[in-house]
Amino acid sequence: MSKFIVDHNEKLEALSYSQMAVFLRCRRQWEYLYRDRVVPQRGHPSLTIGSLAHQGMAAYWLAHWENGNEPVDPGVGEVAIREAVEGQDILMEGDDFDVFGELVETAVEVYRRALAEFRPERWVVVAIGGRPAVEIRFAIPLVRGVPMQGYIDLVAEDREAGGVWQIDWKFVSTLSDRDDELYNLQSVIYQWALLRMGVSTVGSLTFRAINSRSSTPKVNKNGTISRAAIRISWPEYAKFCLDNSQDPENYRAEMEPKLSEIIWTREAREYRSETTLRELWESEIRGTAHEILKQQTRYPRTISPMTCRSCAYQSLCHGELRGYDVEGIRAMEYKNKGE
Ligand code: SF4
Repeated sequence: MSKFIVDHNEKLEALSYSQMAVFLRCRRQWEYLYRDRVVPQRGHPSLTIGSLAHQGMAAYWLAHWENGNEPVDPGVGEVAIREAVEGQDILMEGDDFDVFGELVETAVEVYRRALAEFRPERWVVVAIGGRPAVEIRFAIPLVRGVPMQGYIDLVAEDREAGGVWQIDWKFVSTLSDRDDELYNLQSVIYQWALLRMGVSTVGSLTFRAINSRSSTPKVNKNGTISRAAIRISWPEYAKFCLDNSQDPENYRAEMEPKLSEIIWTREAREYRSETTLRELWESEIRGTAHEILKQQTRYPRTISPMTCRSCAYQSLCHGELRGYDVEGIRAMEYKNKGE
């Protein structure tokens, strides 16, 4: 096994792409989160549709690899999602229980749709040191003895287009542009890490999938299914027809093209040569890491509508700028990380 692969539970003092991204977005935001270690009282729940769908994907691709790199029943991922949340509903009741149940069902549907649209039959999972490259955690040398760590969702060879790809799942509310992959520094880090592990990839592939459920077609009074263009894929629509005693073939000619215009997932690829990776790693990644590790006492803020509007530290930061009682704001709206 590669010396750069580390156990998921191992405690590491390392930098990550997430930390780097925050630092590049706004250095004051980085100070709050990584130096002062304060977080909003109402943070994101640890269980999200995205995290559960990731678990489903990991279970599926491990099984796919174990099956000689041939497709297996997608149900293995669904089982993994349900097992991941088992027992967590014990203390819930009323609305909380309903919200939790809906979260799980949405994650299952999002996972199944993403997997189907990714087309597993296209892919051969690559092994690193005899181990499938699925959800691997790595730590590679970065600067001053501090490693860079990260989690790679999948490394696989494309049977149709060719080449080995570093693949990342993103479960999102809107699909961003394909060109965004050009600016994806996370992929640069992950591809570079793979090179250090002896795996040469032709590029990165970010697979984005909408993180919500599809709509349910209406059943007309005469028992036929409504032909309105709603957010549902053709296979789901066809299954709905079967579940309601209708032959999907009677709907295919009209509904398959209509529903194919509804986009649920988007695949973005970027080819990167070893030379490009080396240059980006040295100038951008290591350069930023040096800046972070300098531990300056005070950084300038990035004050702009683009960054501030969605910033979780807005009230603390702008309170400081206006000379308000920030201790009061901190006590009421924030807590120490890990509390
Ligand atoms: S509110 Fe704006 S300036 Fe302040 S930390 Fe957030 S992004 Fe930075």
